[in-house]
Amino acid sequence: MTNPKSQKVAAVQKVVAKKIATRRLPRSRYSQAEVREIFRRFAVQRPEPKGELEHVNAFTLLVAVVLSAQATDAGVNKATRALFKAADDPQKMLALGEAAVGEYIRTIGLWRNKAKNVIALCSALVRDHDGEVPASLDELTKLPGVGRKTANVVLNMAFGEPTMAVDTHIFRIGNRLGLAPGKTPEQVEAGLVKIIPPEYMRHAHHWLILHGRYVCKARKPECELCVIADICKAKEKTTDVPAPLVELQPVDAALPT
Ligand code: SF4
Repeated sequence: MTNPKSQKVAAVQKVVAKKIATRRLPRSRYSQAEVREIFRRFAVQRPEPKGELEHVNAFTLLVAVVLSAQATDAGVNKATRALFKAADDPQKMLALGEAAVGEYIRTIGLWRNKAKNVIALCSALVRDHDGEVPASLDELTKLPGVGRKTANVVLNMAFGEPTMAVDTHIFRIGNRLGLAPGKTPEQVEAGLVKIIPPEYMRHAHHWLILHGRYVCKARKPECELCVIADICKAKEKTTDVPAPLVELQPVDAALPT
């Protein structure tokens, strides 16, 4: 027979758990339970989300991210396919030289500067890190042309760290939905890292980018395609009816930009 005292303790624990789950998270417009449900649905849609920048190792990922500033992933991929065949480590990139790197990436905006940056980056990697990409935020952000966002993308994708690289899509979603409002990418990053349940942190960065790129678009969010429309608290939303929750096929999961 169950002891009345343990029944009472269990009832109190249930009430406390419910209170915690429904309490609004600091700075967020959502409760813990709502945030968990948002990411649960993203995980059903895209169980293994992948970034769209093509790369073959941590070094080529780092170069691709540096080249992607103010350019589309599709445009960067078009140029780097041949470049990374010719040079997939910093030593080979230095041997190619700035002029040849420039020829490979001529189709990407600001290519002259970017070629110069890639060479400076490779020199620093060879000089300070034996040609290896360092796996720490501190070391990465000391490299020429590598900011916090680039470093977080590399830490997440190449080293599996649960980082949050706030790009334009994530910054918009954090603010539009009131998920983690902030005036700067760093504030949104800090807010998201605080509220996203640890088990979803590894892929959260990709889920939010893909959601922003294909559904919660900048000019006109496509709310009728949105699986979290019933939870969303954005003032721009046009429906409360969520789209059917199904796993997306790779072609839908990563449409070309
Ligand atoms: S309901 Fe609309 S505004 Fe809200 S997250 Fe979905 S697409 Fe964005």
